[in-house]
Amino acid sequence: MSTSSSDKSPVPAASPSSAVSAALATFAQKRGQHMQDLCELVRIPSISFDGFPAEEVRRSAEATERLLQKRGFENVRLIEFPGGHPYVYGERLRAPGKPTLLLYAHHDVQPVGDEALWTSPPFEPVERDGRLFGRGSADDKAGIVVHTAALASFLESGHEAPLNLKILVEGEEECGSTHLDEFLQRYADMLQADAMVLTDTGNFDVGIPSITTSLRGMVAVEIEVQALRQPVHSGAWGGPLPDAGLAMSKILAALSDDQGRMTIPGIYDRVRPVSDLEMQSYNALPFDLDRFRDQAGLPAGVSMLGPEGDRQNPWLTIWRKPSLSINAVEVSSRRDARNVINSHAWARIGIRLVPDMQPQETLQALIDHIHRVTPFGVQVKITPESSSGPWYVEPSHPAFAAASRALQAGFGRQALFIGCGGSIPFVAPMSARLGGIPALLIGVEDPYTNAHSENESLCIADWESSIRGAIHMYSELAATLRAGGK
Ligand SMILES: [Zn+2]
Repeated sequence: MSTSSSDKSPVPAASPSSAVSAALATFAQKRGQHMQDLCELVRIPSISFDGFPAEEVRRSAEATERLLQKRGFENVRLIEFPGGHPYVYGERLRAPGKPTLLLYAHHDVQPVGDEALWTSPPFEPVERDGRLFGRGSADDKAGIVVHTAALASFLESGHEAPLNLKILVEGEEECGSTHLDEFLQRYADMLQADAMVLTDTGNFDVGIPSITTSLRGMVAVEIEVQALRQPVHSGAWGGPLPDAGLAMSKILAALSDDQGRMTIPGIYDRVRPVSDLEMQSYNALPFDLDRFRDQAGLPAGVSMLGPEGDRQNPWLTIWRKPSLSINAVEVSSRRDARNVINSHAWARIGIRLVPDMQPQETLQALIDHIHRVTPFGVQVKITPESSSGPWYVEPSHPAFAAASRALQAGFGRQALFIGCGGSIPFVAPMSARLGGIPALLIGVEDPYTNAHSENESLCIADWESSIRGAIHMYSELAATLRAGGK
């Protein structure tokens, strides 16, 4: 990979602080242009799941490619694997002797869910009450534009980026990063960097910048139960015959106890105890139970799960304990409901993993348990989906303090270190493959974002603060990281 040659001489270096001030001033003037960039990306329904048009994900990759070029990245190109959705790569390597930062975001999105629940069409970005509504407005198209806006703000103010930048925008994050291993094997050299910044997580609350230091992993399975050859009349046959719906209900009910704690033997054995240091930072979080219930959308009277102590600190439970969810169940359908005994039932369930749980071991424990609790001798078929491990980093590398200062400057408020209950399959293998470089997980989501759900939205003020934070961060990390060092 060649860096800048003499015919592309960089703009003369200014002192970091004046370059940062100039970039911030330029961003303030050109904010509208970057908002337009974001809206253009949101208009493309780049759903990466099976059964949705792959051409749209390609169209989104091509739009991202053009955007990276337009805002100053070079050597921009799509990277593709047969049967996969395109990655977009770009770089700006014009700061000789300076460290290199790898930026990550993704351009694919989740399906929209129930379209009738959306207040405005999911792929027509609309601004309401300081938020931009639309699928991907926050997760994660805003993340892409944070980086293009930060780089463009330096360049358009007449300054070169304070360090070398590489950017990778994935196209299959939402559907499990299927080609990740292949990608890393082939392109790890190209991605070598001194630190990476992933803008795909969220802030603890609106206006509170946050750096995520733990992610949960994920295993998921589809369960199919067959009790009969075909559905039969429940009057003519009801009594002696097993019912697929009942069998599935019993299997699902046997996965947890009355408090929602999983009953799969050994499932909690490897959960790493929370350290005193972690406990201290959790205790320092501004927390209010009523606000939590409101943000989560819990109706009055619906109780939270877990033992009483856990309910007082649900964030700790979300970030550092495994959890089970039953994502979908199918036994006939509401439209076809009639007096029959159903022959087949289907369900999809997922378990979120925490350090130090192992995906394969968890999956096996789940499968064994399902077989053990399957009633009536019905036939059961279990199909695992791709899984990912949990991730945790101790924020001791100076890059974390630098990022924290940058976010504080961008938001005007002290940054927090938090966990994240979600998964980004990319992070653990990627940071391992790049020799354990510091991975800074930041993002623009907040508790009202509704990522993956209906009415996803972005807090526009926080998105702007994130861009200011990124401008500061490039400069802070240029001064903190050692080029070619770890
Ligand atoms: Zn995301």
